[in-house]
Amino acid sequence: MTFANLLTPDNQNIKKDDLRFYLFSTQLYLLCLIIHAALIVFFFLIKVYLMTIFNLFSCILFASVVIINKRGLLNLAYHLALIEITIHSSFATLCLGWQSNFCFYSVAICSVIMFTTFLKLYIKLIEIALSSFLYLFTYGYIIKHSTLYNADVFHINIIGFVNIIVMISLLTSIFYRFFLETSILNDKLKTAAETDSLTGAYNRRFFNEYVDIEAKRLLSELNYTTESKHQINFGIAIIDIDNFKKINDTYGHLVGDNVLIEVVEIIKKSIFSRDLICRYGGEEFVVLFTRTSKDGAIIASEKIRKEVEQHRFIFNDEIKNGQITISIGFACFDENMSYNIESILQLADKRLYTAKASGKNKLIYE
Ligand code: GH3
Ligand code: MG
Ligand code: MG
Repeated sequence: MTFANLLTPDNQNIKKDDLRFYLFSTQLYLLCLIIHAALIVFFFLIKVYLMTIFNLFSCILFASVVIINKRGLLNLAYHLALIEITIHSSFATLCLGWQSNFCFYSVAICSVIMFTTFLKLYIKLIEIALSSFLYLFTYGYIIKHSTLYNADVFHINIIGFVNIIVMISLLTSIFYRFFLETSILNDKLKTAAETDSLTGAYNRRFFNEYVDIEAKRLLSELNYTTESKHQINFGIAIIDIDNFKKINDTYGHLVGDNVLIEVVEIIKKSIFSRDLICRYGGEEFVVLFTRTSKDGAIIASEKIRKEVEQHRFIFNDEIKNGQITISIGFACFDENMSYNIESILQLADKRLYTAKASGKNKLIYE
């Protein structure tokens, strides 16, 4: 069985959130297995036989825990591991004393408890309270009584040193994972807030924010540049699919959805990566041509119209060469004396209306 194989649960019905915990916990249990195997050798060599036997049982337990976890019984595997770690941490402290630093495992386990995805908060808190109680009991016992073993101080210091290193590595990896998960979730949230889930184009809200910033940037640039004003213009094309309702009514909404996705792909291929495409409404898109001349943006808009006209869409098993057309209304920044975004959009919209009224499948730019 390979490591990659171990990281894939047998049970495919595990929830997405729990899968995150599965990956994390499998690595943790394997680490515990390796640590306990090393401890068997260590305690045998320093003749602490009780701990040798204890670690042997721990190894068997963690091997079982890995298998149980892989079968999808995350909760059972986690609780077996939790019980082992807390009891082991206290028992090893009772045997060897504080200097062995086994007590730190009881502290680290609190962060693992909080990291579980399937427990309610009050259960997590009860488990933290129970493990803390065992920790406090061990603390009290050691104050009053001597340790069960009088192991060599040098050996105890070695194990104490190793335990600190393992603990720091473990906590660092847990918090790094937490940080990573948070930043991945943040990215997903940002994408979900800015884009349209069907087509992947930006949404209207993002467009409104972006176009505002772009307009301000352009205005300040116009004040300072010696470049030709024509070159640092920007253009807005409002694109509407012609007779789209008919496509939905004839072939169904799923086909309509696919047409929307493909149209966005076609548009993306015809514009620069610095340009922006946004889904403005149902079957209406807006392209923002940035840092471009009016002529350049008109050529790109006409290219989009032609590409869509020439593209062959699969509508169903019989119609694999389906055709659709689009109408485009175009306006650019310097056409409007007040440099007001709203009025540029209105101008483009008016031209789109003219394109529709004069027979569709047209680009109108003046
Ligand atoms: P025109 O040529 O004048 O633009 O006519 P049209 O049929 O394209 O325009 P109309 O506004 O009458 O219809 C737009 C249709 O777009 C109606 C609506 O059901 C459909 N639509 C809007 N959003 C979606 C979507 O996300 N998926 C699908 N499949 N259809 C959508
Ligand atoms: Mg339409
Ligand atoms: Mg429309």
